[in-house]
Amino acid sequence: MTLTITGALLAGKRVGLRADNGLIVEIGPGVEPQPGDERVDAAGGILVPPLINGHTHAAMTLFRGYGDDLPLMRWLREKIWPIERRLEPEDVYWGTRLACLEMIRNGTTRFWDMYWHPAAAAQAADDAGMRATVAAPLIDVDGRTEEMRVGALRSLDELAGLTAAGARIDVGLAPHAIYTVSESSLRWIAEVAGERGLPVQIHLSETEQEVIDCIAAHRERPARYLDRVGVLTPRTVLSHGVWLDDDELELIASRGAVVVTNPVANLKLAVGGVFPYPRARGAGVQVGLGTDGPGSNNSLDLFADMKVLALVQKHAAQDAAAIDALETWDIATGRRAPLLGAAPALEVGQPADFLLLRAAAPELSFGELPAALVYAASGAVVQTTVVAGRVLMRDGEIEGAGEVLARALDRARGLGLAPPLASAQVDELA
Ligand SMILES: [Zn+2]
Repeated sequence: MTLTITGALLAGKRVGLRADNGLIVEIGPGVEPQPGDERVDAAGGILVPPLINGHTHAAMTLFRGYGDDLPLMRWLREKIWPIERRLEPEDVYWGTRLACLEMIRNGTTRFWDMYWHPAAAAQAADDAGMRATVAAPLIDVDGRTEEMRVGALRSLDELAGLTAAGARIDVGLAPHAIYTVSESSLRWIAEVAGERGLPVQIHLSETEQEVIDCIAAHRERPARYLDRVGVLTPRTVLSHGVWLDDDELELIASRGAVVVTNPVANLKLAVGGVFPYPRARGAGVQVGLGTDGPGSNNSLDLFADMKVLALVQKHAAQDAAAIDALETWDIATGRRAPLLGAAPALEVGQPADFLLLRAAAPELSFGELPAALVYAASGAVVQTTVVAGRVLMRDGEIEGAGEVLARALDRARGLGLAPPLASAQVDELA
């Protein structure tokens, strides 16, 4: 199927775009639909690349609003972990579909997911038409090393079918963190990832305690430790990196690994620091942006999060010029970290992944576009979302959205979680 967009705005000019077989085949003024093409009249909508969510736990949409305002360890121990033990693949499937619905609506087309039952998450991303890199969290500090390794290999096998069939879904390995995976298993993961060319996602230096504990246990800081066990490579995505020092930033840059900053989750969980972005940029570290899970953000709107990224960095540096709007936009679209999988540009031969933004949105009416996108807009400005030449949202409408919401609510109820509208607390707000 060939898709033709007409009447879009790109760099101030009216353009059209044709996509065939998932790729852009024509873009520019004078592009016209051919007989049989699927057509979208952009009606002056602004053509921009989509956003890339570099770190999330998508199916945690089911836990949104459950146990909020608790400190991290109490939230995990008292609320999340007991429920996660009862999760079934169907829960993960519909929770991930709900996350996809929200991401598509807010202009995100690719996400890096770390969650249980990754085959269900991959199927959900594929069915939603999105791109994703999925992996189960690997944890073995509870002594279940053999079980973890067998499970990791089994989930790679389970996912092989999906990744072979379509290029939109990738698979990786996701050691949860240096404090939840043993040194011998981190070495094993590095070996398997190296042999198979797989990406590795890991939480790193999210809290100061993690750094203190790492120095006590290994006599070196987290990034040095990760490098020594072989995990720091050009296929590695480090989430958070709040407490990295200059030596670690230089090491990460020299290894070609990516740091994904999750500013909203860091603020909500009160980690007490800010990812040292200006120093990371100075060292040459590749940087992306993530929401983290909807249990700890709680939204999946990267427009909101890129504003927070810029504001937090300016505030921490006491310098309004510490990061500008265009740089922030480049980070959120994955252009500062090619491993995350952004399309390089809206050009012929590139994947047909793009957004049309509402021409009439008041937030986009004045000033320079990058500043409007980063400081004024929310995901509500997204009108149409296209991945691999397939229209996932057309003028605000996503096919099957009602069913996804209903099924996800059913699964949440099955886990004993009440949807907010049924909550007695609604009265308290009145
Ligand atoms: Zn996370």
